[in-house]
Amino acid sequence: MKTVLVNVVTPDGPVYDAHVEMVSVKAQGGELGILPGHIPMVAPLQIGAVRLKDGSSTKRLAVSGGFIEVRPDKVTILAQTAETEENIDLSRAQAAKTRAEQRLSAKTDDIDHKRAELALRRAINRLDVRS
Ligand code: ATP
Repeated sequence: MKTVLVNVVTPDGPVYDAHVEMVSVKAQGGELGILPGHIPMVAPLQIGAVRLKDGSSTKRLAVSGGFIEVRPDKVTILAQTAETEENIDLSRAQAAKTRAEQRLSAKTDDIDHKRAELALRRAINRLDVRS
């Protein structure tokens, strides 16, 4: 089976580095599935899951935006944040979700709604990836 090297990097350092058979990401334009030998490409990512398929197992990571750079033999994901399933703190994500929901439901003008919405999406994504 052909594989492609995947590197997931954040400002805090590398998060993942291994060969896989297929990479799926949520790009701005929609879900993208990348197989070894893919033509070179760069695309911005949404807050979403990255799926790394290797044999019968699929590993999932939660990423909050960034870019994917594809080359035939290597995929680099530069993400603002990235956590593997086992590194996601469930109670922290649940607390962040509740906090963001409370901010969004408060009808005051001094709430930054866009910021709260993004925090909510990050929290929901972490909960989804962890579940
Ligand atoms: P919080 O309000 O809990 O900080 P957040 O969405 O604002 O959540 P980020 O700014 O996206 O947090 O991330 C800050 C750092 O904390 C990153 O290194 C990220 O990987 C890590 N992080 C955030 N939430 C979690 C979580 N639930 N489990 C593990 N790591 C997390």
